[in-house]
Amino acid sequence: MKLGIVGLPNVGKSTLFNALTQAGAESANYPFCTIEPNVGVVPVPDNRLDVLAKMFNSQKIVPASIEFVDIAGLVRGASKGEGLGNKFLSNIREVDAIIHVVRCFEDENIVHVDSTIDPIRDIETINLELILSDIEVLGRRLDKAKKAAKGDKKYEQEVAWIEKIIDALNSGKAARSVKFESEEEAKFADSLFLLTTKSVIYVCNVAEDDVSDDGMSNDFVKKVREYAESENNEAMVVCAKIEEEISNLPKEEKDEFIEALGIGESGLDRLIKSSYRLLNLISFLTAGEKESRAWTITKGTKAPQAAGKIHSDFERGFIRAEIVAYDDLISCGSYAAAKEKGLVRLEGKEYVMKDGDICNFRFNV
Ligand code: GDP
Repeated sequence: MKLGIVGLPNVGKSTLFNALTQAGAESANYPFCTIEPNVGVVPVPDNRLDVLAKMFNSQKIVPASIEFVDIAGLVRGASKGEGLGNKFLSNIREVDAIIHVVRCFEDENIVHVDSTIDPIRDIETINLELILSDIEVLGRRLDKAKKAAKGDKKYEQEVAWIEKIIDALNSGKAARSVKFESEEEAKFADSLFLLTTKSVIYVCNVAEDDVSDDGMSNDFVKKVREYAESENNEAMVVCAKIEEEISNLPKEEKDEFIEALGIGESGLDRLIKSSYRLLNLISFLTAGEKESRAWTITKGTKAPQAAGKIHSDFERGFIRAEIVAYDDLISCGSYAAAKEKGLVRLEGKEYVMKDGDICNFRFNV
């Protein structure tokens, strides 16, 4: 699962990406400094693993992870091939969801491509390029479907579906705003790999002084929040610069620094967790002497497929899963105590996994 970090040049994408991965991608006051997409694998923070590792005397902790891609700066006209336009758009096509960084900080030393700070204009600049790119893709699909419909009436349905999405795009709306009448239609829309069907988190990059009240006194942030809400998307506040500083500190100093800032959790941790949620992901856990580990599955995954994440043999030979909910285990104090109380359950093939399930799979080889 991959998230793409997008935004206009100089809004703080690379700074945020560096903080996320500490990968040291170049960050400079210069448009187009991130030419190749940088990919970083980022651990998903999960305190439950620390607790389990203590309880089970685990030698190591293996958190879940998600991938972030820093996508080169988009400029107005990208869908017509301006700047790194086409490359940018094809990189977005490959990600599962979008982190859209919006500049909400003022700093005379850092040029804005459109001179002034105006986050809604910036958002719309990018969204327009995504919409134009989708219109172009759909135009080609429509021609094809129309041709096919001449020979086979069943393609008439596709023509209608495509036209419906094009209408929405032409009125400036994202494809995700289109209401689908059937599962079939939704599936078809999925198969088009459009840019504007992807979910978005708008990240307001604010100045250092604006983090302690979560951007409440920043009017730019207010506008972005309203905009995101109108689209049913999420917005959140970070200061990329501070996050970069925090990410370079040793662990103990990190916690102190975060406390001194008056924020409960680093912006990055919030962003990573929100991203995980946005992608509809949950974690099930395994714990033992060797390791305490989180495994990523999509919401709605059943036990055998979850087992298959660990090893394909586990799925093929699946018999049962021995499962205890994390909270139940903690309130009992030990696995043996949870078992005694009957809180360790045996679940079969149809069991739908929950976040925080601690699992032992039984399988035939
Ligand atoms: P990108 O082009 O979107 O990847 O932007 P960069 O991450 O390279 O940032 C552009 C410039 O803005 C760099 O000089 C950063 O140090 C600076 N910058 C990024 N985030 C912040 C911030 O939160 N506050 C301030 N004052 N400067 C920032």
